[in-house]
Amino acid sequence: MGEREKVVEDRVLEVLREWEEYARRGNWRPRGYRIIRGPAGNTKVGEEREEEFMVVYRPHGVLYHHSLGKVSKFFRGLIEGKLYGTRCPRCGTVYCPARAHCWNPSCKAQPTEWVELPPSGKVHTFSIMLFSAEAFLEHLPFVLGYVQIDGAHTALPIQILTSPTHVWVGQRVRIKFREERKGELMDIYAVPVPGQEPPKWSCLHADAKAMEDLRRDLEKTYEFLQERFGITREMVMKRWEAPGE
Ligand SMILES: [Zn+2]
Repeated sequence: MGEREKVVEDRVLEVLREWEEYARRGNWRPRGYRIIRGPAGNTKVGEEREEEFMVVYRPHGVLYHHSLGKVSKFFRGLIEGKLYGTRCPRCGTVYCPARAHCWNPSCKAQPTEWVELPPSGKVHTFSIMLFSAEAFLEHLPFVLGYVQIDGAHTALPIQILTSPTHVWVGQRVRIKFREERKGELMDIYAVPVPGQEPPKWSCLHADAKAMEDLRRDLEKTYEFLQERFGITREMVMKRWEAPGE
């Protein structure tokens, strides 16, 4: 932190203490090792041999801190349970996620102003995730969407908590705030406004083959969840019961 900066609110002390202790104990030095036998390499076919190697184990942690800069208010808003966007005073474009400057070329990087936005919008586009990176496997299957918040001209990437067969472009959604919030996009998610039916032109719903393929692939995801985590289909469906509606 520079000399001109002062801490206004500090919610990081606990993790800093944890990290200091980590550093004090020199915790990133080797803590153990293993001797393994494996292919020696650089051998010809038919002349393979094994060799012993040493593998050292040492913890490696990174406490990454970075400033959210001029869009900080957006992330503080998430903690406060509010959704903020920014508005360009020259052309009126409303950005959510927030931008500090207008991207309209004719506005020449005009600084924007903060506006509070309602917790509602519509699905601009979406992806149905039936497989994912390790960290999100337990949350499968899930829907990632770009939601255009009412009053905004851009789209916010957000999880849509709904059955993968019940989502479409133009679907009305409400934005929900998780109980425990950290000031990140995962603090919020969208749920469909109840009582909506997919429009006739929804490509997934209008195409019986596409829907059949999705249902078949979903079955594989359910099998995977059961096998890997003991998560049943019923447990998954419970997540989609319109929370807070
Ligand atoms: Zn502008």
